[in-house]
Amino acid sequence: MNTQQQIETLRDELRQHNYNYYILDNPTISDYEFDIKLKELQALEEKYPEFFDANSPTQRVGGTITKNFNTVVHDFRMYSLDNSYSKEDLLDWETRIKKMVDGVIQYTCELKYDGASMNLTYQKGKLVRAVTRGDGVQGDEVTANIKTINTVPLQLKGNYPERFDIRGEIILPIEGFLKMNEERMANDEELYRNPRNTASGSLKLQDSAEVAKRPLECLLYSIKGNNLNISTQFEGLQKAREWGFKVPKEAKLVNSIEEVLEFVEYWDIERHNLPYEIDGVVVKVNSLYQQEELGYTAKAPRWAMAYKFKAEQVSTVLNKITYQVGRTGAITPVANLEPVQLAGTTVKRASLHNADQIEKLDIREGDTVFVEKGGEIIPKIISVDLSKRSDNSAPTNYIDDCPECKTELIRLEGEAKHYCPNYNGCPPQVIGRIQHYISRKAMDIEGLGGETVALLVKEGLINDYSDLYELTVAQVLPLERMAQKSAENLVNGIESSKQIPFERVLFALGIRYVGETVAKKLVKHYKSIDNLMVATILDLMSVDEIGERIAESVVEFFSAEENLKIIQRLKSFGVQLEISADKLANQTEKLKGNTFVVSGVFESVSRTELKKLIEDNGGKVSSSISSKTSYLVAGDKMGPSKRTKAENIGVTIISEADFLSLIK
Ligand code: AMP
Ligand code: ZN
Repeated sequence: MNTQQQIETLRDELRQHNYNYYILDNPTISDYEFDIKLKELQALEEKYPEFFDANSPTQRVGGTITKNFNTVVHDFRMYSLDNSYSKEDLLDWETRIKKMVDGVIQYTCELKYDGASMNLTYQKGKLVRAVTRGDGVQGDEVTANIKTINTVPLQLKGNYPERFDIRGEIILPIEGFLKMNEERMANDEELYRNPRNTASGSLKLQDSAEVAKRPLECLLYSIKGNNLNISTQFEGLQKAREWGFKVPKEAKLVNSIEEVLEFVEYWDIERHNLPYEIDGVVVKVNSLYQQEELGYTAKAPRWAMAYKFKAEQVSTVLNKITYQVGRTGAITPVANLEPVQLAGTTVKRASLHNADQIEKLDIREGDTVFVEKGGEIIPKIISVDLSKRSDNSAPTNYIDDCPECKTELIRLEGEAKHYCPNYNGCPPQVIGRIQHYISRKAMDIEGLGGETVALLVKEGLINDYSDLYELTVAQVLPLERMAQKSAENLVNGIESSKQIPFERVLFALGIRYVGETVAKKLVKHYKSIDNLMVATILDLMSVDEIGERIAESVVEFFSAEENLKIIQRLKSFGVQLEISADKLANQTEKLKGNTFVVSGVFESVSRTELKKLIEDNGGKVSSSISSKTSYLVAGDKMGPSKRTKAENIGVTIISEADFLSLIK
């Protein structure tokens, strides 16, 4: 088998596994085996760039940056749908269309996926472009982003038409959405509101590698094109499935509007058990011939009708408004409700967001309120049932002082939320910061949990995370539920955390907007906390991917006297506040300004090690040869085409030995 065949075989194999996993939900190899094969293909493609294919499974990881999305005119206009909200609406629709077509009408009933609509164009079985709906006539081209979505086939299977468009909805399954929010919560970032907005926001991200990280899916529902040899909507769905698209199996072909109503009733309840959100059902005349006869109004097809579910609403009594203080001091008002059943769960609390929201809806304690669980996962209050308000009710006075520490709250210009400024004395802030410090992704302190932290603070044993390092077994032993063994574990766990590398320490400090990735970037650039502490805003902003918001927050953190004291203490206890000596010893700037391409097999180092050596010495690694390449490091078995290309452009070709002497 020659190299090209080897590459093609791997691509086919990976496509099939991708299909088994994401479309059929029935993987036949482990994730690990999949990764091995993918890496094998990546290595081959890197080595033989002449066999590049924009639709290769390796392209799904993304990495393309799009500054401006091109506007593209749709070949077939993307219409909206007419809405109905009741049985009567649907019956009226049937009466109208029956007057316009002859013969029996069959209907395809589909779920109305709640996401962002997308038009995909395929030619010769390959995805050539993906365009958002936009205004229906033209939309934005977002192909690079869409390619990262695993349920979008890059290469079709079976007997597909030469060229066609296919439409679907980009959605974010609920589980994936909640996971994304968990991570935001851990980084103390504002949470995404609902899966729909998060899905549609993802389409226009500039870095496709970011999109690749999001667990988006594409569910298909309609094929458009010329001479497709498809005569009904239902047949179209089946064919799309055969070509490798994800077309949910819930779609049903029915013979009467009564059956349509049954479908609607069934899914109004069952929707709560789906892995993604739907906001209704779409009913379509099944015969494409009849569809053509019915045609379109100015904005929607006459042959289709959306039935929108009512967001479930209940009314209940709001017993009390309480206020939560977060780790950063942000105040969130919470409605404590008389428990009530809603969309399959018992609801006891609803978020009130901020003071403006309470004032706008004039929400008061004792009111009977309407609660809704719409797109948002956390229920919200829609309105107040004024007819049930008692005569002696009074408007809500938003709190002026922190409920936890009584400090007067502040509200910054342009911000919706109130903050408690008592950074050092407000218990939930103090406790929250230490809890973040010990958390798994930060210092990962074994033997110490969030509740124990709260206890330690309450007992006055610690005030900030640097105090942890002075705790003794004798001090913690008297605490509730502590025994000799657990007390020792706790102290040992804290001791071991002194080995945690600087990048995780920096994340653990809890500087606002400095999440795991930002911490890594800062450490790579500044190498020690001493360097970082004196950096100016401008200085920080010159670091790759550090923006103004982050820069300001870092400078603010290090300008607070208390924080400097804490850092000094951490230092004195031996916590890692710089890149470790051996790591640093291997780092130089010897290759600064040079870009390397590495190809072939090496003797004394692996290819990965070689790349690391380049980066540790300040050089850049690139995967393809261009005029920007400074050196091609050529190993054994390097492809002849790479050599030719390098020679043509005039790139210096060096051996493994040459390279090693460069960094000596
Ligand atoms: P609307 O945005 O309310 O006008 O509804 C039309 C939108 O519903 C379309 O643009 C699609 O994005 C979306 N939709 C979701 N599921 C389906 C489906 N099964 N068939 C057609 N459209 C759907
Ligand atoms: Zn406070």
